[in-house]
Amino acid sequence: MLNVAIDGPAGAGKSSVAREVAARHGLLYLDTGALYRAVGLRALESGADTRDEAAVEALLPGTDISLRFVEGEQRVLLGDRDVSEDIRTQPVAMAASDVSAMPAVRSFLLELQRSIAAKNNCVMDGRDIGTVILPDADIKIFLTASAEERAARRVRQLAEKGKEADYATVVEEIKRRDEQDSTREIAPLKPAPDACVIDSTNMTFEQVVALISGMIGELV
Ligand code: C5P
Repeated sequence: MLNVAIDGPAGAGKSSVAREVAARHGLLYLDTGALYRAVGLRALESGADTRDEAAVEALLPGTDISLRFVEGEQRVLLGDRDVSEDIRTQPVAMAASDVSAMPAVRSFLLELQRSIAAKNNCVMDGRDIGTVILPDADIKIFLTASAEERAARRVRQLAEKGKEADYATVVEEIKRRDEQDSTREIAPLKPAPDACVIDSTNMTFEQVVALISGMIGELV
């Protein structure tokens, strides 16, 4: 199987880049952040403190997370409820970051990710794909950009959807999540030693896609 790992901080453009690269090469695109978001949503909805490890761990046996791919688009299911839209809120993002620091949550989601990679040629995006989930991935990318640029892109993206966002608040949220994701003990956000680090601060979307696409083209 051909496995491409794309890791990096929040808002670096991983998902748009991964989706486009996957489409160009006929690969499955897997967004692993959605899995942590589903656990975060489950914790929030059950009223648990998302930073309370024992409380979150106690929820896991009754938590059934699965993925469906509908015409190549990933859908996330909690039991038989499709939560693909419900997980896209700021409180759920922060809850995902909280629960993702817990070893029990990471091992709960590990097999699901590995089994998809074992059965599909895919592009997987996340925080620890190249370091933990798929250490033997054929291509490892660490995609980053300055926090200010990532926040500006997020604000523009929201504006396109007709939603207003305060730039200063968005920078603050991004920095807080980066800090929490990079300083946790388990699977911290960092480039794998053999990853190709792409700083997209001064690059266009097309340039980033072309770069990664070129790397895939050399392999297939
Ligand atoms: O990528 P996304 O913003 O959807 O991820 C939400 C949160 O899930 C991240 O802030 C991170 O804490 C966590 N995550 C992770 N490992 C991954 C993907 C996401 O810890 N592979």
